[in-house]
Amino acid sequence: MFDVEKIRNDFPILASKVNGKNLVYFDNAATTQKPRRVIDALVKYYSEQNSNVHRGVHFLSDKATTLYENSRKTIAEFINAGKPEELIFVRGTTEAINLVAYSYGMENINSGDEIMVSTLEHHSNIVPWQILCQKKNAVLKVIPINDDGELDMDAFKKLLNSKTKIVSVNHISNSLGTVNPAAEIIKLSHDAGAVVFIDGAQSVQHLKVDVRELDADFYAFSGHKMYGPTGIGILYGKEKLLDSMRPYQSGGDMIKNVSFELTTYNELPYKFEAGTPDISGAIVLSEAVRYINSIGLDNISRHEHELLEYGTAKLREIEGFRLYGNAKNKASVISFLLEGIHPYDTGTILDKMGIAVRTGLHCTEPLMKRFGIPGTVRASIAMYNTKSELDSLFEGVKKAKRMLT
Ligand code: PLP
Repeated sequence: MFDVEKIRNDFPILASKVNGKNLVYFDNAATTQKPRRVIDALVKYYSEQNSNVHRGVHFLSDKATTLYENSRKTIAEFINAGKPEELIFVRGTTEAINLVAYSYGMENINSGDEIMVSTLEHHSNIVPWQILCQKKNAVLKVIPINDDGELDMDAFKKLLNSKTKIVSVNHISNSLGTVNPAAEIIKLSHDAGAVVFIDGAQSVQHLKVDVRELDADFYAFSGHKMYGPTGIGILYGKEKLLDSMRPYQSGGDMIKNVSFELTTYNELPYKFEAGTPDISGAIVLSEAVRYINSIGLDNISRHEHELLEYGTAKLREIEGFRLYGNAKNKASVISFLLEGIHPYDTGTILDKMGIAVRTGLHCTEPLMKRFGIPGTVRASIAMYNTKSELDSLFEGVKKAKRMLT
């Protein structure tokens, strides 16, 4: 059923040469490549459907509006949201977190309150909360991790208390691949009276996410990491929470009536979509969702796990290979160092061989500090990767080691 060669043929860029070698793309956690039907949908939008949304009575405006709103429905079904209105089109995960930190946080956080993140977080899921804490004289608490890169759940339970107002953690770590126990975190946080934001930037492309089953208050992800376009992402929020929040930005589309004396705000989701949105991005994102659905997340997950195990076992054969992130529940990321070698040097040699990996902090500086390292080399796996590409990575890493020691 799952035919990786067929899938590869859907992605034009995978046929490229880099430095005279076949491209081996293992930087999927940073951004994924796009299948032809996503690229075609973007061309089609600008060739046949382009118009502003929600504003015109003419044919094209109606068409663009219908496509835009249908896309919201498709993506709502993808994560099993209760209503499409609970989905806000944003630029990406970063904007989603900023929206909630600003809009929900400014109204609901008071002096002495606590906001909890974890050591595993991306800077996007640290800094907006830190700024909020500074503004409100609140306290940022951090859930520690163990040496395998798993959240210390006992420490989490001890940190939770009646002052905890927001808990914001990622579903899957971009640096280590740890799959966090999101449902348990949500349940425990709710019992303590806190609302929970789940950063799903690294999850919706790897595992089936059901926001209602999780009972997440907020859930966010980025289109470009799930085979869709850049510049578009989703903030999911429970209706009653979103309803209670003030607009994050103001201007056109988010208003009901405007006068110089008083302005009233539009209903959900438009209240949070001020100005002309990324119409093409929003429409094309549903094409990426249809593509993922056509392959099946179960199949994707199985394939990626097989590769993860294969690649990790192979790389472990190399003397001096040190793996970071050894969680029992792990997805799609092999983060490593070669003893005595800077990650940047390994990455540069791999690039000469046409192999794209990410090197450095991966926007998780506190996490790297926790391990006392200057960063890692990160190979992150997507549905179109193969065992033979992992063999190339293995050979490349061996060569880097030979050249650098
Ligand atoms: N959170 C995680 C876990 C991520 O991996 C990333 C991106 O790498 C982000 C947040 C930020 O996503 P974006 O840059 O698309 O807003």
